[in-house]
Amino acid sequence: MGQWLLIMLLVLGVALDKGMIAIPDRWLPWTPISIETPPGPFLGWKLARLADDPEACRAVLAADPPQRYTPLDDVTRGQCELSNLVRYAGGQSRMQPSVMTRCPLAVAWAVFERHELNAAARAHLGVDVAQIEHFGSFACRNIYGRAEGRRSQHASAEALDVAAFELEDGRRVSLSGHWGKGAEGRFLKEVGQRACKVFGTVLGPDYNAAHADHFHLGVGGRVCR
Ligand SMILES: [Zn+2]
Repeated sequence: MGQWLLIMLLVLGVALDKGMIAIPDRWLPWTPISIETPPGPFLGWKLARLADDPEACRAVLAADPPQRYTPLDDVTRGQCELSNLVRYAGGQSRMQPSVMTRCPLAVAWAVFERHELNAAARAHLGVDVAQIEHFGSFACRNIYGRAEGRRSQHASAEALDVAAFELEDGRRVSLSGHWGKGAEGRFLKEVGQRACKVFGTVLGPDYNAAHADHFHLGVGGRVCR
């Protein structure tokens, strides 16, 4: 029995190696991230690998011309040390204003925008998103600003708080104004669900009152509420 399994694996290995079987990149843990590739089961792991590799991370953004970003030097602000930073101004849709964030978060956002955000916008509202309003990424603080306890993902600029979406036809859809209301509400709900395919941590109005007016989208962790 064990022999047969070994032979099967060998045959499979040779077939993969010779390109006789084509498996999409997103199903392979060892292929690098490309913004063109839809989210797959190893995306979180691939994003984690970019965390300490600014060169590889920036190369992912550079390979996708719509991405607007500027590499930034490492800085220390208060008690928070920041590395692998970029100033990110969005891809197809513009970040308003541009945001200082860790590079893997910008990559995650780019994948999310390309494959999930506009799909939700088109399905419920018939147009793409033109602009993103947000509350920023970096804040040197603990969770909920408590004096003690765990550091927030914002302390390392590994999360983005998204408050509203401006559509290409000029409409503005905000979490504070449209959550649970009509087509806009259904769009926002789907945005939250689709975000979980890309971001390890997604918190929104269904989670608690502190998130009533924004989605917290973080790289790393495993929460989808
Ligand atoms: Zn947040």
